[in-house]
Amino acid sequence: MKNKITNIHLCLCNNCQSILEDTNPQINAPLYNVGTLNPEPLIQIEDMKACPFCKTDAYLSDDVDNVLKGSGVDKIVTNLKRIS
Ligand SMILES: [Zn+2]
Repeated sequence: MKNKITNIHLCLCNNCQSILEDTNPQINAPLYNVGTLNPEPLIQIEDMKACPFCKTDAYLSDDVDNVLKGSGVDKIVTNLKRIS
């Protein structure tokens, strides 16, 4: 059976070390195949997208690659335009 493929944008909260679904990605942000992992999405607080655990965007980072190393999550696309 084929693994489920789920390609989403990710970001990291440096406060709680959570990998989160980036629901407000930058243009050209890489997509990640997270398979059956199900990262919590960022939540909307007033005019910002924030970590659902810390309730702030102060610690959010796009630098998820180091954290994901060895986790089984593959970075599959480095440029959004390539998937069309
Ligand atoms: Zn957090």
